[in-house]
Amino acid sequence: MENVAILGTGPAGLSAAIYAARADLKPLVIEGSTPGGQLVVSPEVENYPGFPAPMSGMELMELFKKQAERFGAGFLTGEITGVRATDGGYALQRGPETIETRTVIIATGALARRLPIPSEAKFYGKGVSGCATCDGAFFRDKDVIVVGGGNTAMEDAVFLTRFAETVTIVHRREYLRAAPIEVEKARSNPKIKWMIPWVIQEIAGDQLVTGATLRNKKTGEKRHVACDGIFVAIGHDPKTELFRDLVDCDEHGFVKVQPWSTRTSAPGIFACGDVCDPVYKQAVVAAGTGCMAALDAQKYLESMTNNS
Ligand code: NAP
Repeated sequence: MENVAILGTGPAGLSAAIYAARADLKPLVIEGSTPGGQLVVSPEVENYPGFPAPMSGMELMELFKKQAERFGAGFLTGEITGVRATDGGYALQRGPETIETRTVIIATGALARRLPIPSEAKFYGKGVSGCATCDGAFFRDKDVIVVGGGNTAMEDAVFLTRFAETVTIVHRREYLRAAPIEVEKARSNPKIKWMIPWVIQEIAGDQLVTGATLRNKKTGEKRHVACDGIFVAIGHDPKTELFRDLVDCDEHGFVKVQPWSTRTSAPGIFACGDVCDPVYKQAVVAAGTGCMAALDAQKYLESMTNNS
């Protein structure tokens, strides 16, 4: 039986692996369909502390993995298709194989929602971004679009005015679901323009984004807008389908954890990183909560031993 099974190999899962391995728990880390997590699509990561020279998200995550391996973390590749409670812990289904473990660390992350147009995928990382905090500084004195009408879109738009010449908020409805105070901040910013209710129909460019064709949802009018960057802020979907019957999740599917802890509603199951973070969504935060999850799992295992 494993002590700790860690699901996910983004900054959260790998930080949990480093800490659990150094505590001699011999964690088993299971790499799913996106080894390295969301960060691997970032061509340059400039804001991870301790790395003053930019490096790709892929390189950064390879370093995390090497560090975890150095302390003896084991790695398995493959999708976990089921998780159930057993007498002494949990059973994870991986194809025909069952992995028994005393504790589980959920670090499966979240997926940024993507625009349902083929050109969005083509230009992802080449002008299209899902993270203003990560990529905003690359758009100094440029014209950018932010897609979405929620709090993230408003915050991203205001944040991007630090760098960009103009920021155009494109939203599919006249109603904005963002909090009035966030809308007001955006409305009062002279660099922000609005296209509501418009949708992006196609993204244009050669190697990099040069503009987009937009369609008015009410009138059907089409318009080409020149821009250098498109920030998609239409929400994230946490990857929690496997655990919905085991742990409490909020109405958006994020795993609920106890304050200043990674404990979930199920004993022996801990969650870290974007799977339980609807607010910050940053690699360094995920890494920090990964460390917390390993320490919480360690304490839990110690209490199991003391009580047996
Ligand atoms: P969100 O509230 O779910 O908003 C997503 C926005 O994207 C909505 O306006 C939605 O349009 C739009 N959208 C969804 N799918 C789309 C598509 N395929 N094409 C075009 N537009 C699409 O997501 P969020 O803004 O990331 O916020 C997530 C949660 O974090 C919320 O609870 C939010 O309040 C919270 N948050 C809070 C703060 C803060 O308190 N400072 C900051 C950021 C986020 P519709 O409105 O038409 O559905």
